[in-house]
Amino acid sequence: MTIQDAEIIIVGGGLAGLAAAVSIARAGFDTIHLAPAAPPDRRTSALMMPSVDFLLRAGLIESPAAVGHPLTAIRIIDATNRLIRAPETLFESTEIGQPAFGWNFANAKLLERFGAAAPATGLSTRNAAVVAYHRENGLGHVSLADGTTLSAPLVVGADGKKSLIRSAAGITAREHAFGEAALVCDLELGRPIGNTSIEFHYPHGPFTLVPAGEKRANLVWIDEEKLLRETQAAGPEALLAALRTRSQNLFGSIALASPSFVFPLSVLSVAEAGRDGTVLVGESAHAFPPIGAQGLNLGLRDVADLVAVLAEADRSAPDWALTASTAYARRRSGDLQRTGGMVDALFRSLLAEMIPAQALRAGGLWALKLLPPLRRSAFGIGMGQRRA
Ligand SMILES: Cc1cc2nc3c(=O)[nH]c(=O)nc-3n(C[C@H](O)[C@H](O)[C@H](O)COP(=O)(O)OP(=O)(O)OC[C@H]3O[C@@H](n4cnc5c(N)ncnc54)[C@H](O)[C@@H]3O)c2cc1C
Repeated sequence: MTIQDAEIIIVGGGLAGLAAAVSIARAGFDTIHLAPAAPPDRRTSALMMPSVDFLLRAGLIESPAAVGHPLTAIRIIDATNRLIRAPETLFESTEIGQPAFGWNFANAKLLERFGAAAPATGLSTRNAAVVAYHRENGLGHVSLADGTTLSAPLVVGADGKKSLIRSAAGITAREHAFGEAALVCDLELGRPIGNTSIEFHYPHGPFTLVPAGEKRANLVWIDEEKLLRETQAAGPEALLAALRTRSQNLFGSIALASPSFVFPLSVLSVAEAGRDGTVLVGESAHAFPPIGAQGLNLGLRDVADLVAVLAEADRSAPDWALTASTAYARRRSGDLQRTGGMVDALFRSLLAEMIPAQALRAGGLWALKLLPPLRRSAFGIGMGQRRA
């Protein structure tokens, strides 16, 4: 008979995997976290207030101000030459009675903070990648490159878009790749943008400056992958010239404050987020273009729901992990469908060349600009507030 090595094994050392490992171990589960060394995560994440509240409740951060920068307003500028253009629109968090919509964090800083919140006992972290996974006799068995096999009743796949755990567990995923990608880098601006995130909407996607404190901003530029790679390859001067043009020279001087990185974009969804003792969190379960700041927000809601399901688990029952994985899949299904559908539709509407789609989008922004109740309910959905 195989002996279990832990109650739960979590695979993947990104933000979703680390948040899951630390909060599950803090909840009293004997946990192994398999987190192979990975290149530094240069992305930044705008997290909406419900996600920030979760991080505080779970003890993953002590104060957002110690790690990030507040986002109190969002300005949208239609920079297309389309026939039907949207109005320039400013959304402020005070309209929904909140001091901020959320906070902007460097992923590397969040990883550091989550790691510091790990409990002294109950969590064993290993710098090891999984090469195979199967289930037998009520246990999930993960094989590591050095030939070791580790076993646990519940296995959490937090191993990103190309998840091995997902495919080995037979969970079907659908992925659609776009021709667009996102270029990210840090900028030092001549004129500060305060706490306002500024989005210029171009035909191939938004060019967004997210405030990172004082004159710093994090750029997320979505455009055709070919154009982004060519601009990047042409060197820093060519990149800066493109950034000045795209930002309509609104910010005085612009200097690069970090190297730039390009991320190809796709949407990925799964038929179910868990079954038969395996569950998926973060990008192993869902991925989409970084618009409306949803990816990690959704990943943290996965973690919050997993912790809630585990709090109700009866660990004396022999099949507790199977029950928990089914309960988790059921609990996540509505949110995954709703958020995935919303971001996909929004992204396609931003790219749409068809006049009716342009009219709908422009009309939508006019409606948001003019109708306060609609603005409030749109904010609620964008911020990931749950439906009753
Ligand atoms: C440009 C850009 C901007 C974004 N901005 C925002 C934003 O503002 N707000 C927001 O909410 N979201 C944002 N996102 C999305 C967010 O960054 C992701 O949702 C989040 O970082 C995904 O975390 P993850 O842990 O699920 O996946 P990953 O970060 O991909 O981590 C997966 C981990 O699994 C490990 N792994 C892979 N295979 C194995 C294996 N076989 N064994 C063991 N480990 C393995 C990898 O090494 C990696 O560390 C953005 C994304 C991009 C691309």
